[in-house]
Amino acid sequence: MRAMVLRQPKTALVLEEIPKPKPQENELLIRVKACGVCRTDLHVQEGDLPSPKLPLILGHEIVGVVEEVGKQTPGFKKGDRVGVPWLGSTCGQCEYCIENQENLCDQGCYTGYQINGGFAEYTVCKADYAISLPKTLSDEQMAPLLCAGLIGYRAYRKAAPQKTLGLYGFGAAAHLLTQIATQEGKEVYAFTREGDLDGQAFARKLGAVWAGDSSASPPVLLDAVIIFAPVGELVPQSLKVLKKGGRCICGGIHMSDIPSFPYRDLWAEKRIESVANLSRKDAKEFFALLPKLSVYPQVTAYPLEKANQALADLKAGKFQGAAVLRL
Ligand SMILES: [Zn+2]
Ligand SMILES: [Zn+2]
Repeated sequence: MRAMVLRQPKTALVLEEIPKPKPQENELLIRVKACGVCRTDLHVQEGDLPSPKLPLILGHEIVGVVEEVGKQTPGFKKGDRVGVPWLGSTCGQCEYCIENQENLCDQGCYTGYQINGGFAEYTVCKADYAISLPKTLSDEQMAPLLCAGLIGYRAYRKAAPQKTLGLYGFGAAAHLLTQIATQEGKEVYAFTREGDLDGQAFARKLGAVWAGDSSASPPVLLDAVIIFAPVGELVPQSLKVLKKGGRCICGGIHMSDIPSFPYRDLWAEKRIESVANLSRKDAKEFFALLPKLSVYPQVTAYPLEKANQALADLKAGKFQGAAVLRL
């Protein structure tokens, strides 16, 4: 099969012809139809995250069709449309797994990081961690929901805004969340890179009541903000636009260092929290909710062999919405 392979961090992915993986008894072999390109893929490629499996196939927003089932994969059959998310396996025994927090598992393994992912014609995944997808949305449009949508939604629940929500970094996750939050009656305030007028217009088109530069002050103080951009400076900056008791949720897996800031900016019971990974319960709830929402992902599709271009365009902010590899 053809795959885009990362041999070493800080090098380009290489198109290679490699053997098709064989599913173990608890695994599914999946023919990949579409795989989203997430900022986490960029962090792995750029060496921001420690100890990836090498060589590695990136990609953890996989939509595909079951081609072959192992002996112990109840609930799945050949031809089923499935999604494979970031969470690839957990131990089931650590204190986090037992306490319904498998997203924090001590032994967790992640797709496109410790397990080969979806920048390839085929992939295998543990059947217990595969997601049955609703029939809404095409394969390409569904792909970004597997991480940007799902982990974005986990961040949104943590933010739990009464009314006003700020989003820093208007990429794949924010463009999906804006649509969801506005349907739930929230006001979205979008903060983009400095001077990104196209991004601000895009945010308004999707329902944001206000959009501006990340250093700008919105017209009201906000109940909560979610920071998707990997920029530590945004944390102290965002505290200044929060109401008393407001929450600042860091939605990414990696961020540059957070500069020091005066305690008074945090005072008045403001909180800073991070979001890590997802649980299978999150996935179940989110994909059950999805058909009840009107969410229209804006997708820029690239062929598999253009994965490096997709990552470069993501880094440069060249497209709006999400990038997806089309197989
Ligand atoms: Zn565990
Ligand atoms: Zn992701």
